[in-house]
Amino acid sequence: MRCPFCRHSDCRVIDSREVEDGQATRRRRSCAACGRRFTTVEEAVLAVLKRSGVTEQFSREKVVRGVRRACQGRPVDEDALQQLAHRVEEAVRAGGAAEIPSHEVGLAILGPLRELDEVAYLRFASVYRSFSSIEDFEKEIADLRRPAAGEAVEQRSGSSTG
Ligand SMILES: [Zn+2]
Repeated sequence: MRCPFCRHSDCRVIDSREVEDGQATRRRRSCAACGRRFTTVEEAVLAVLKRSGVTEQFSREKVVRGVRRACQGRPVDEDALQQLAHRVEEAVRAGGAAEIPSHEVGLAILGPLRELDEVAYLRFASVYRSFSSIEDFEKEIADLRRPAAGEAVEQRSGSSTG
């Protein structure tokens, strides 16, 4: 790692800590030549494979942008969007694959979005699943109306991965 100030290549790590629940490591470094300090963040790269065959780095911001569009005029605040994007990222990372198809990112968005706002969910699903008729909406709405199995059970008690 080169020093960003003097480009010297000998930099010592003086502190190292995990951030984002261990998904990234933040290191404090000190340059042996000029003595200045800087921070680096190491993160396992999660690639999204688009239908075009191009891969790009997973971006939480992109998830937020897509969902924000579906939430226009809905009582969903920025905080909720960020939380949703965080959940999507965790779900996607939990899959354990270094490269995931973009439609799986879309799938990971549907669940949390449905909990957040049903209208936004319908909008997002209509684009994502390319609804082509009113029947598609009707079917989806019927699904929304059907009480989920075990709905009485507290659902926000965390993801029980295992
Ligand atoms: Zn330096």
